[in-house]
Amino acid sequence: MSAGWEVVIGLEIHTQLATKSKIFSGASTAYGSEPNTQACLVDLGYPGVLPVLNKEVVRMATMFGLAVNATVARRSVFARKNYFYPDLPKGYQISQMELPIVEHGEMFITDADGNEKRIGITRAHLEEDAGKSIHEGLDASSGIDLNRAGTPLLEIVSEPDLRSAKEAVAYLRKIHTIVRYLGISDGNMQEGSFRCDANVSVRPMGQKELGTRAELKNLNSFRFIEKAINLEVERQIDLIEDGGTVAQETRLYDSDKHETRSMRSKEEANDYRYFPDPDLLPVEISDEFIAAARAALPELPAAKEQRFVSAYELRADDATILTASRALADYFETLVEATDAKPQIAANWVIGELSGALNKDNKDIGDSNISATDLAGLVNRIHDNTISGKIAKQVFEAMWNGKGSADEVIESQGLKQITDNSAIEAVVQKVIDENPSQVAEYRAGKDKLIGFFVGKVMQETRGQANPGQVNQVLKDLLKA
Ligand code: ADP
Ligand code: MG
Repeated sequence: MSAGWEVVIGLEIHTQLATKSKIFSGASTAYGSEPNTQACLVDLGYPGVLPVLNKEVVRMATMFGLAVNATVARRSVFARKNYFYPDLPKGYQISQMELPIVEHGEMFITDADGNEKRIGITRAHLEEDAGKSIHEGLDASSGIDLNRAGTPLLEIVSEPDLRSAKEAVAYLRKIHTIVRYLGISDGNMQEGSFRCDANVSVRPMGQKELGTRAELKNLNSFRFIEKAINLEVERQIDLIEDGGTVAQETRLYDSDKHETRSMRSKEEANDYRYFPDPDLLPVEISDEFIAAARAALPELPAAKEQRFVSAYELRADDATILTASRALADYFETLVEATDAKPQIAANWVIGELSGALNKDNKDIGDSNISATDLAGLVNRIHDNTISGKIAKQVFEAMWNGKGSADEVIESQGLKQITDNSAIEAVVQKVIDENPSQVAEYRAGKDKLIGFFVGKVMQETRGQANPGQVNQVLKDLLKA
């Protein structure tokens, strides 16, 4: 990236709220059903039908507002955003414009220098999703699936406070984590439950006014978002350095070609002619309603992370990883509860072997082959010296593959650690007898060879000899 330029990014995140029914109708929001089986007359935009607000979305938006230190508006208003598109049969989308339900929030991220940085949340408003057009498998025609029409969305708009693609992704991850903690969204990006548009501009370092921005659409994975933003930043800098100017426009990211291309310019942009929806009353929220939402807030990620560091003395990075989802944090705490080992040891197992195995099998922590209490059984056998850490990995693998509990695997595969000193001495003596030249070299001062002998002993005992004892016995016998 060229020096002398400052990158400015603001994100608009569409989070699908995890309600059973739609925002203004009783139709189901379940994903993946046959087209148009979940669209009632309200979603189809029939004349004469009236929207009725789903109270649950108000509660969810309120919880979000409280979780990001925002103001939850005692009174917010739904407006009609007018545009014509086949997947929006009413001819307008119900959204919030002038009086959104949430304003002036904040989120903290860690910047490139490791410092905490505040990102302002301008607003979060409620709106309904549109349906979708289908072209695949249809010959010279388009289909419309209105199952998604009327699905509740919370659009979370940030201030232009982000200064790099990395910061944008860090912020997005924080929002992703928090909506899942709150249980207000499943955050599933593949299914479109968590989508993001990125507004990107550049300006000469030190300049006060913001540069002209382009809005990137179609960003549906954390990896693509980072790539697309970096690509767009480069494009804008090159353009300006070549004497051109950035046009305010909407651009589409194509992950296959790894390019962004213009979708529509500002001149072509819709004039939405917003006005308050006469079919819906303003939303009024009481103090009691807010107090109840506050009381229902779970421990939030930042607080949990701090508690993991102070109560369990975890490394800060590990606390961040373990609190990335509530399910993972709960798993870890159940494990700690059930083991005598230090929490950091438990953390190492969750972040290392367990996460590795989950990744490999493409599983979530909720579907882990090994429960937290079963993993505690393994960690305890290392702690009480029944097995070494190295053998433990072998036991873990067997447990993962359904071969039983730690104790069962250790028993059936005869993996118990050898701690009987005379047994270890016998093996050490054998190794010494079989390697006279190395013994001579060691005795002549080549200390490094101790590793060679340890290796031989471990080979003889299939890794089961207690490593500390092996070292000690070797040193004693080699001295002689
Ligand atoms: P619109 O109504 O056209 O969507 P907004 O003013 O609501 O525009 O801004 C949308 C998003 O764009 C916000 O996240 C905001 O922070 C961001 N944004 C606005 N101006 C810029 C800019 N010059 N560079 C980068 N991001 C910007
Ligand atoms: Mg916008």
